[in-house]
Amino acid sequence: MSSAAFAASQHDAGTAANIGRSPLTQPPLPYAEDALAPAISAETVGLHYHKHHKGYFDKLATLIEGTPMTEMSLEEIILSTHNDASKIKIFNNAAQAWNHNFYWQSLSPKAQTPSGELAEAITRDFGSHDDMATKLAAAAADQFGSGWAWLVSQGGTLRIASTSNADLPFVHGATPLLTIDVWEHAYYLDVQNRRPDYIKAVIDGHLAWDFAAANFARA
Ligand code: MN
Repeated sequence: MSSAAFAASQHDAGTAANIGRSPLTQPPLPYAEDALAPAISAETVGLHYHKHHKGYFDKLATLIEGTPMTEMSLEEIILSTHNDASKIKIFNNAAQAWNHNFYWQSLSPKAQTPSGELAEAITRDFGSHDDMATKLAAAAADQFGSGWAWLVSQGGTLRIASTSNADLPFVHGATPLLTIDVWEHAYYLDVQNRRPDYIKAVIDGHLAWDFAAANFARA
């Protein structure tokens, strides 16, 4: 397969638009490491991408080496190992690889606002954009310990969700539209314990609403 065809196949299928599906290949960052500063510093993005995110791919490769899982998509591995205690290490590393693929795409160097059908659905289900943003910020701030805050579509309705550690919405029947990583490594170098400052900076200026709209269109 040519590299162009491989890239196209990664982008055309899957649970979410525009995210990598291979269990063995960490997708490139979609922007420069300093593109999110000062909300998220280049140092944080660099460590987060090259150490934490890459680490999940490296561990996953070791765990699935020589098994049929090397031929599966990340989503297939996650769905087939979810709730299987004997496969918890594979699930955790595959889910964290996927979550970070999704996180980098959920962030935008430039501020965006939702438009079209997604904006209408936000108003319908939350009352207003600000009410949605307030609920997303609260879910991200209130997540106890490590985890993720999400905007999801489930049963035709948008809602805010949070998950612990590596857990993620699509194993629970919800389609993720965008996410915010609230593990300490996502913000501690920049704002130490002030997680709400990181959340506010991301929500106010760096959510990729074009990515959320593409996921919403496929939900
Ligand atoms: Mn992370």
